[in-house]
Amino acid sequence: MKYDVLIIGGGIVGLVAAHALARSTRLSIGVVEAQPEAAIWDEKNYHHRVSAISLASQRIFAKLNLWPLLRCLRVSPFTEMQVWDAMGGGEIRFSAQEMAEPALGFIIENNAMLTVLREQLKNYPQVTLHSNVELKTLMTGAEEQTCLTNGAESFVAKLIIGADGAHSWLRKQMDFQISSTDYKQQAIVATVKTTLPHEGIARQVFLPTGPLAFLPLAEPHLTSIVWSVPTDAATHLLNIKIEAFNHELGTAFSHRLGDVSAVSPRYAFPLVSKHSEAYVAAGLALIGDAAHVVHPLAGQGVNLGIQDAMSLSFIVARAVNQRRQYWSLASLRHYERERRSENMLMLKGIDGLHSLFTSPAKPIQFIRSLGLDGLNALPIKNIFTQYASKKAF
Ligand SMILES: Cc1cc2nc3c(=O)[nH]c(=O)nc-3n(C[C@H](O)[C@H](O)[C@H](O)COP(=O)(O)OP(=O)(O)OC[C@H]3O[C@@H](n4cnc5c(N)ncnc54)[C@H](O)[C@@H]3O)c2cc1C
Repeated sequence: MKYDVLIIGGGIVGLVAAHALARSTRLSIGVVEAQPEAAIWDEKNYHHRVSAISLASQRIFAKLNLWPLLRCLRVSPFTEMQVWDAMGGGEIRFSAQEMAEPALGFIIENNAMLTVLREQLKNYPQVTLHSNVELKTLMTGAEEQTCLTNGAESFVAKLIIGADGAHSWLRKQMDFQISSTDYKQQAIVATVKTTLPHEGIARQVFLPTGPLAFLPLAEPHLTSIVWSVPTDAATHLLNIKIEAFNHELGTAFSHRLGDVSAVSPRYAFPLVSKHSEAYVAAGLALIGDAAHVVHPLAGQGVNLGIQDAMSLSFIVARAVNQRRQYWSLASLRHYERERRSENMLMLKGIDGLHSLFTSPAKPIQFIRSLGLDGLNALPIKNIFTQYASKKAF
């Protein structure tokens, strides 16, 4: 099969790239996804994977005409964020009101985003989605790149975009070096009922073992938790009886939302950070987790990936309009320059926060409590929230 652009990976980031390219160019686009089954939003049950979506990402969904559909699928706005340090005692609060915005962001189930993205892709006849594809070989050329599947099927394109996640097959084929940190932690996620209502506030406590977030869902007494703990503690939390888990969770959260009870199974995700040394080669580009993976403590992974998808689509569309080779290295370098430095800043910031808050050293505890209390009193904190809200393509 031959396309102008082939996107490997039909996750949120790959599908946003397909939408953005289809809206802004007439290029033919193939999307190949390894999974045989599509994730479908379920009206009856909350999905265990949710994402905090920034205002910038929300504006992109609106621009791609996806927001009116998404907001019907239990999107939960949060109007305040409270972050505190269990050891140093400092606390910082962000509010939508201070920023003159209706919300700071939205908690959305990942399968809601995937359902809408996939369904709406059918509006673009130039896009074809192939599921259950196992790629085996990549052959690169000056004008064309070819991927062969296990069954010797071929996908040929001028530009191949790798949106195939943290273990990116394309990144490995390109032989790009990656810098990586294994946090030796896992994030436990679950849907949790609380006796007190969350009031649309996203809360996160930095415990000595790692951060614990309670993200508000559409129902006032339901939250989605992300609890990052060392690997052996994760094994313990996954295996203890539900009553013991509820007790440990409530204690770790100082019962800020009263008693808690998990209403879904518990799942664990290993936590690493990764950054690819390069994002592009002639005819090839990486976006999303294929290019960078960040710790979930700042809820930024999908948001950064969506920015990558939009930046690359914009640069491709501009080259098409100017009748330049959109797959050339010179053209793709614009994308790499724009996104790599910005992602690098976010990676370093998140890494720094993680080290600061998991350090048991007393002087560091003192500095971090000064940091959170001091930051809370300064207008500078708006810079953080404005970064999350204003960048939109
Ligand atoms: C516990 C946790 C909480 C998080 N919370 C947030 C949050 O609140 N906000 C936020 O912004 N981010 C969050 N993240 C990060 C976020 O989940 C990721 O950054 C995001 O899912 C990356 O999207 P992606 O499309 O790049 O990759 P993926 O979601 O990994 O999608 C990649 C897709 O490619 C497919 N694929 C893989 N290999 C191949 C192949 N060889 N051929 C074809 N297809 C292939 C996969 O099946 C998949 O569909 C969180 C992460 C974790 C672990």
